[in-house]
Amino acid sequence: MEKIRDKVLAGERITASEAMKLSSEGDFYELGFLADAVKKRLHPEPYITYVIDRNINYTDICISACKFCAFFKAPEDEGGYVLTFEELGKKIEETKALGGTQILLQGGLHPDKPLEYYEDMLRFIKGYDIHVHGFSPPEIHHFSGLAGLPVREVLKRLMKAGLDSIPGGGAEILSDRVRQETAPRKCTADQWIAVMEESHNLGMRTTATMMFGHIETMEERLEHLTRVRDLQDRTGGFTAFIPWPFQPDNTVLSHLPKTTGFSYLKMLALSRIFLENVPNIQASWVTQGPKIAQVSLFFGANDFGSTMIEENVVAAAGVGFRLTEQEIRNLVEEAGFEPRQRLMNYTLV
Ligand code: SF4
Repeated sequence: MEKIRDKVLAGERITASEAMKLSSEGDFYELGFLADAVKKRLHPEPYITYVIDRNINYTDICISACKFCAFFKAPEDEGGYVLTFEELGKKIEETKALGGTQILLQGGLHPDKPLEYYEDMLRFIKGYDIHVHGFSPPEIHHFSGLAGLPVREVLKRLMKAGLDSIPGGGAEILSDRVRQETAPRKCTADQWIAVMEESHNLGMRTTATMMFGHIETMEERLEHLTRVRDLQDRTGGFTAFIPWPFQPDNTVLSHLPKTTGFSYLKMLALSRIFLENVPNIQASWVTQGPKIAQVSLFFGANDFGSTMIEENVVAAAGVGFRLTEQEIRNLVEEAGFEPRQRLMNYTLV
């Protein structure tokens, strides 16, 4: 443990087996202390950043039926929606009126919308002059399958139509055993990585997420972190990593226990320590609430995430935390930092 501690404090990379030892034997506060040391090395600045944006889910109709999802409607279910462009426009106007700089655009895997539909949607949104952080790798992979085009071609077309960056959603746990058991119709771990690698090679920045605390083992969480770190070594395209715990209510896996704030903070700290090549780590106030989010700032997080003017996916799993920009600023200040608004690429507004 002392050797691992020295490595972390010297700014060296730790191995997956060392991370496993830290996770099983490391004291809670020691993990926090080490993560805070990594955070301070990468972010000596006295501020904590956040972005003003809105999650727009253009449809909830989805053919994937992931066991951990409380949001989707199967195509044959009643009550599924697809937003009209007019509805999209109204949401974007509201976002801009609140100082928003970007929208997070994601949806279910719709069975039959063609690629041209998404291109039209992007061109329409870009008329509002706002950053589009959109279409997670499972969506891109789905569009590619429906269109019969390679992922690279789909990405180039979406970029030409206005896509600016890609969110790291749909990663869940990048381990095929876990994906096969929870979301067998979704892209594989290799396919998720391939979409991200192509995006980075085409010059787009993306984020990476990890949804943990369901059926995965700690080894599988470390497999996930290793895949993210390896891709970052190859491309440097990830701006941030966002670990967040599975929210079981209203899902097929609702019998599973909820991840505690204690376990969340340990995983957050371990992510900060392990992913020393990913510049930013986000706190997840939307799943953890404001108080644990404040503590996150001492367990490796340097970013408070998004104001999420609208959020539907976590809300569908019965989690109801809402924060305004002013509340986020107050929470950051009360924790002893200066709050600063940023853009997707972490430049300050
Ligand atoms: S997580 Fe995404 S892909 Fe899976 S069922 Fe929900 S909307 Fe569909």
